[in-house]
Amino acid sequence: MSLTVVGSIAFDAVKTPFGERPKMLGGSAVHFALAASFFDTVRVVGPVGEDFGDAELAVLEGRSVETADIERVAGGQTFFWSGVYGWDLNERETLATELNVFAEFEPKLSEQSRDCDVLFLANIQPELQRQVRDQCRRARFVALDSMNLWIEVAKQSLEAAIADVDCLILNDAELRQLTEQPNLVRAAERILEMGPSVVVAKQGEYGSALITADGFFSLPAFPLADVCDPTGAGDTFAGGFVGYIAAHPDVAISHDLLRRAMAYGTALASFNVQEFGTERVARLTAAEITERVAQLGRITQFVDVPLTLRD
Ligand code: AMP
Repeated sequence: MSLTVVGSIAFDAVKTPFGERPKMLGGSAVHFALAASFFDTVRVVGPVGEDFGDAELAVLEGRSVETADIERVAGGQTFFWSGVYGWDLNERETLATELNVFAEFEPKLSEQSRDCDVLFLANIQPELQRQVRDQCRRARFVALDSMNLWIEVAKQSLEAAIADVDCLILNDAELRQLTEQPNLVRAAERILEMGPSVVVAKQGEYGSALITADGFFSLPAFPLADVCDPTGAGDTFAGGFVGYIAAHPDVAISHDLLRRAMAYGTALASFNVQEFGTERVARLTAAEITERVAQLGRITQFVDVPLTLRD
């Protein structure tokens, strides 16, 4: 079984109150792939420029991510994103988004990438997400992430992409923006009417919520005293969430399975934010993830003891 992801493969320049990195490996597909690599074979599809070196590829290959469908464009520049965070790490300002090699990219997937069991359309132009979706018709579960930029500049194309997937994973505020609904439950209902059967709302340091026809589930973010850089947390969450589903090829995708997938997404994302960019997840171990999921289970569980209330 395997998991294919298309999305940005990037250089990021990031500044937070705890430090800065002028040029580090990033991109939605990269963060996703590193996290999902704990669950399945992951194939990354996308272009990079001549400036993308062996050191960057080595980070992916260090987690056994398949990089054969990463195309190096002669004379091209890698996607570049730059952002700055203030003391409220839930808020960030994008300073630059340079599509570079993504502007002309026409995805041609290898047979192995097309043949995936699970597909993740990570944040990138919705048109590219649709082209990749069209090439992976055998996938049993397809999830998609996006962001405010694409809601603003390519809403119709994004809506068409969403209509053709099983699961939408989006920031809480972006779900409201996309559906023009101030209420999260109503926003999720609109999405369920569009085609997907699963909606995940990412809520930054407050966690995430799952909405399906079978109900609602929510988890807090794992409580950490020190958060360094939230860049890529959403993609890392998606890597844990979608990866967990990919790791269960013979299990029906039930609300219970999705709840457990939320716990893995939450655990993975919590490691990502502890250091800059991919630094922490690149040297994460399976045992650390298992331990954090167990801790998360302990801090989120409660058992009601019946009490006679006064009328
Ligand atoms: P997140 O913090 O989960 O939203 O992901 C941040 C990552 O997404 C960074 O590593 C960026 O390179 C990448 N990114 C930022 N803006 C875009 C965009 N418009 N399209 C695709 N990827 C992006």
